[in-house]
Amino acid sequence: MRRITLLGSTGSIGDSTLDVIGRHPERFSVYALAAHRNWRKLAEQCERFRPQLAVVGSPDAAEALRAHLRAAGLPTEVSWGPAALDEVAAADGCDTVVAAIVGAAGLSSALAAARAGKRILLANKEALVMSGALFIATVQRSGAVLLPLDSEHNAIFQCLPEGRADGRGVERLILTASGGPFRTRALETLADVTPDEACAHPNWSMGRKISVDSATMMNKGLEVIEAHWLFGLPRERIDVLLHPQSVIHSMVSYSDGSVLAQLGNPDMRTPIAHALAYPDRVGAGVAPLDLAAVAQLNFERADLARFPCLRLAFEALSAGGSASTVLNAANEVAVQAFLEGRLRFTAIAEVVESTMARARIVELAGLDDVLASDHEARRLANEALAAGALQAG
Ligand code: NAD
Ligand code: MG
Repeated sequence: MRRITLLGSTGSIGDSTLDVIGRHPERFSVYALAAHRNWRKLAEQCERFRPQLAVVGSPDAAEALRAHLRAAGLPTEVSWGPAALDEVAAADGCDTVVAAIVGAAGLSSALAAARAGKRILLANKEALVMSGALFIATVQRSGAVLLPLDSEHNAIFQCLPEGRADGRGVERLILTASGGPFRTRALETLADVTPDEACAHPNWSMGRKISVDSATMMNKGLEVIEAHWLFGLPRERIDVLLHPQSVIHSMVSYSDGSVLAQLGNPDMRTPIAHALAYPDRVGAGVAPLDLAAVAQLNFERADLARFPCLRLAFEALSAGGSASTVLNAANEVAVQAFLEGRLRFTAIAEVVESTMARARIVELAGLDDVLASDHEARRLANEALAAGALQAG
């Protein structure tokens, strides 16, 4: 029986994870659930999965949730805030932590799980982008097991012997990318796209931040950086290939000419079920892939002029040190501003680029350095926003 802490339970990955867990009560139990604001949804999840602990983002939400659970007769203890997230991620009561908080807010708890030697199912790619070397060193020191939930990395993991790329004839990793909703849209109209248009992904249903990242293809850039840290290959051996159908989730090419791919319907329950049960296999509720109905699998090269965020991510990985931390922080600030109607879509890349040009790129010796870089980049990105030239309307 795996005892699971699910961080980010009310989000898109949280929903899919609980769906898979609910199909296999004999294998998986929920030790703790954590979310930010939506305590009502968290309350429903507590009623169904009966965790020992629940964590929310504020004392008010904690009070409301506590009162609700008490009235429902549930013994679930409620706490709130970042320190409580770190605690449930490292607690003895769980062996597995699903890290599915969005953005930098998920770093500390993911690292706490790594320090505590947990089996970590990582959705929160931003944590690895911000602090790759530190994160991997922490995992290696504690003996934690890191299993990727991101569909591309999960696919690559499945195409590698024992999930490892070192010294086994692996030549290249090929990350597939749908190209998002704007792959073919006229370039001169991109400045006017709305948050809802950017969030209308053709193949995947996801949270709003990652949906915007998919529309700019920053998501694929973050994933190249994520792949570098997870599998230890340099930037030059990680390719991005557009594949609009999102059926091949990624590939590994080997020195003998073989290319292995993992295929499936675009449904996050597949990689989640894979990582939850690994090395076993369990049902995920996903419809079988009907390749005759798909009929065609198409491929294109990625266009860096259309997707400047992808270029910026490549540059950040090549620059090393804190450059990826800066990239991620500036992107989070810019995407938030875009979602709130304060920034044009095409200005997301401008904010990231100007922040990367102005931030100091330093070596990251520890968590303090990561947080300092993140902080400085957010300040510079907010300055770029305030500068006005980049603003919406
Ligand atoms: P989402 O916005 O749907 O959900 C985010 C979750 O994080 C929510 O439960 C929210 O309550 C919680 N959260 C947000 N801020 C928090 C804070 N400060 N403290 C505590 N909890 C907080 O996002 P999502 O689409 O589920 O994505 C989650 C992560 O998984 C992201 O890092 C994303 O890049 C990654 N991911 C998502 C998908 C997908 O299909 N949705 C695929 C691959 C990777
Ligand atoms: Mg992905």
